[in-house]
Amino acid sequence: MQVDKNLSDIWLHALVSSLPDATMITDQHRNILILNQLFCDLFGIKQAPEELAGYNSSDLLAEHGGILSDLANVASRLLNLYETRQQADGDILRLRDGRIIVRSHRPIHIKDHFIGHLWSYQDETEKIRITDQLKEQKAFYEDILNNIPADIAIFSPTHHYLYMNPIAISDADLRKWLIGKTDADYCIMRGKDMAIAEKRRAIFKKITADKCEHSWEERLINKKGEESYHLRRMSPVYDEAGALKLIIGYGMDITGRKKIEEQILLSERRYRDLFNYSQAMICTHDMEGRLLEVNPAFCETLELTETQLTGSLLQSLIPDSDKSMFEDIYLPSIINNKKAKGLFRMLTASGRRLYLLYQNYYVNHPDQPPYVVAFAQDVTDRIKAEKELKAAKKTTDENARAKEKFLANMSHEIRTPMSGILGITALLQKTLLNNEQQGYVNLLNDSAQNLLNIINDILDLGKITAGEIVLEKIEFDIITKISSTLKLFQVNAADKKLALYFDNQIGNRYTVTGDPTRFTQILNNLLSNAIKFTHSGSIELYAGIEEETDDEAVLHFYVKDSGIGIDENKLIQIFQPFTQAYAETTRKYGGTGLGLAITQNLIELQQGQIWVESKPRKGSTFHFTITYAKPGNTMAQSLNTSVSRPSRVSNQLGQLKVLLAEDNDINQLLAKSILQYWGFETKVATNGNEAVQLVRKEQFDIILMDIQMPEKSGIEAAMEIRAMADKQKQQIPIIALTANALKGEEMKYFAAGMNDYLTKPFNEHELYTVITRVYQSKRNPL
Ligand code: ADP
Repeated sequence: MQVDKNLSDIWLHALVSSLPDATMITDQHRNILILNQLFCDLFGIKQAPEELAGYNSSDLLAEHGGILSDLANVASRLLNLYETRQQADGDILRLRDGRIIVRSHRPIHIKDHFIGHLWSYQDETEKIRITDQLKEQKAFYEDILNNIPADIAIFSPTHHYLYMNPIAISDADLRKWLIGKTDADYCIMRGKDMAIAEKRRAIFKKITADKCEHSWEERLINKKGEESYHLRRMSPVYDEAGALKLIIGYGMDITGRKKIEEQILLSERRYRDLFNYSQAMICTHDMEGRLLEVNPAFCETLELTETQLTGSLLQSLIPDSDKSMFEDIYLPSIINNKKAKGLFRMLTASGRRLYLLYQNYYVNHPDQPPYVVAFAQDVTDRIKAEKELKAAKKTTDENARAKEKFLANMSHEIRTPMSGILGITALLQKTLLNNEQQGYVNLLNDSAQNLLNIINDILDLGKITAGEIVLEKIEFDIITKISSTLKLFQVNAADKKLALYFDNQIGNRYTVTGDPTRFTQILNNLLSNAIKFTHSGSIELYAGIEEETDDEAVLHFYVKDSGIGIDENKLIQIFQPFTQAYAETTRKYGGTGLGLAITQNLIELQQGQIWVESKPRKGSTFHFTITYAKPGNTMAQSLNTSVSRPSRVSNQLGQLKVLLAEDNDINQLLAKSILQYWGFETKVATNGNEAVQLVRKEQFDIILMDIQMPEKSGIEAAMEIRAMADKQKQQIPIIALTANALKGEEMKYFAAGMNDYLTKPFNEHELYTVITRVYQSKRNPL
């Protein structure tokens, strides 16, 4: 069909004008053939489209290219397309005003003959903006999903994977592969336990059936055998019509949490065990005393069940008599000191009374009411034992007191006749006797003296154990003391044909401050034992200085004999009172077994030690040390007691008139004979009444008052005299005469107003000393 060229031109123009896109047609020389109004509008060209026909498109670009934000690129791309004449779609042109234009290019051919270019432009600003926004949004959500610290998987209603984040599957290829697959596919592919897939499948079914989310914990073991725990949750998502759209699976690695939970559980279990198996009673209670928790030991001790105890008041377990202690002492201590300890009495269900030793602590955790943790121990048996012990001690103390009393009485009973025997013997010795009689009297004197020594030993030990020994502190020469003591034993040793040596490593004189009498007593005991237990050989006394400072000296002595010796296993017991090494010792050698006990005590009282080395049939060596102060360093009195006294006392006091109150005839006779020897006038009263009457009638310089007398005791008589109206009589010096040698008794005499006392048996010197002391202090009162 022949078409009119003009008509087709008009058609073409009309067609291009009505195209929905901005369009331009250029010829092979880039000259514009046609463009439409939309093109002009798009690029802001003011001219009408017809005016631009024949215009070179490059000129047009040069004129209007200013609106493009990237002119150079656009121009080079244009050039490229003009030259290559290639078809192009989707070239993007960005305008400075922000619009985005998409361009298409088509080369135009007629029967393989190139005739020009068709350019079409579309303003796709809005579309691209929306697409960009969508992309951004997608990236945003993907970012979240990819970075969320949980594994996320989206499933189709048929339980096929639609999406999973890198936490769920870290391998990107695997992630891609899994899309559209199931858990079963995954398990097969990875060689995992199908049970996991089956379990998930079952849960999936349940969720779709129940139409609600479901969560569970999954334990997985990786190739290395490490176990991990995951919390999984699946939530169904429905569309508006209520049809299942997808299922969101959400999982979290809870291995760390699980391990902590397990540890907490374990340690909780351990503490529970501690609580449950503890032998101590443990409970907690609130600030009113209401029991919150009790352990089995608590229940068992109180004979109640946990249910019975929990919720009940602790006070209800306390006996009525002690109830107030809870509120008055216990609770305030808990509140103020945050702890309390002590003893509570409690009653068991069967009414048994228990003693509980408790130690309780106040606990105050934030956001929790304060409470008390209590630990207690049943000490009922211990308390009972203590009570029994106390009772036993009381009995022992009472026994000891009874023993002491017995000793006092004994000493009195024995000392009274003893003083008679010794006194009379002394008088007898002063009379004219033939040799035989003199011998008998001497024997009598020795035996009596021996007996008195034993009594004195018993009393001495009694005093030592009661801590009543008071040591003297006087200066004395230790060498003189040793020599005079040795002299006493020289005769005994010679009698037994024993040599007696003194190994003096100290020197000729060595003055110390201490108790010379006690030193002699120690030497006496050891030397007499040595002589007693030795039948042949020698006895050696050694004295040396072990340590010496300006103030003190530690002296070392030993008494070595070649006697019977002692078995090693007896060496300790010989220092026990009333104990001898062998059963036959008393029979063979006599003695009471008191000497070494007293000796040891005396030595220890003087900061010394005693020890023994002995071999049976070879002999024994008794060592001892004593620490003496050196003279000039103590308040020592310079009094040398080692001076031997004259046998009779010559009276320097003048003629005194003495009242002798004494019920015992022999003692009367003794005292009277001494007093008469001094030239004193003596009146005798045989009891307290007579004494008081005589004082009323006559004038006396001094009264010797026996304590134990019939009718009226010496104490009562003394009190009556002290209460007399006559001032002179009231103040007559009174000396108590007593056979009671126990310490503390003298306080009673002083309390009754007596001035001094003398223990029977006494000798002439002692009596004279006391009379002098009392008489002179009366004459020169302080
Ligand atoms: P006593 O001599 O009165 O028995 P002691 O207490 O002085 O009491 O001594 C206790 C015991 O120690 C003696 O009975 C004796 O068995 C033993 N004993 C003491 N000194 C010696 C010694 N020098 N040789 C052997 N045995 C001794």
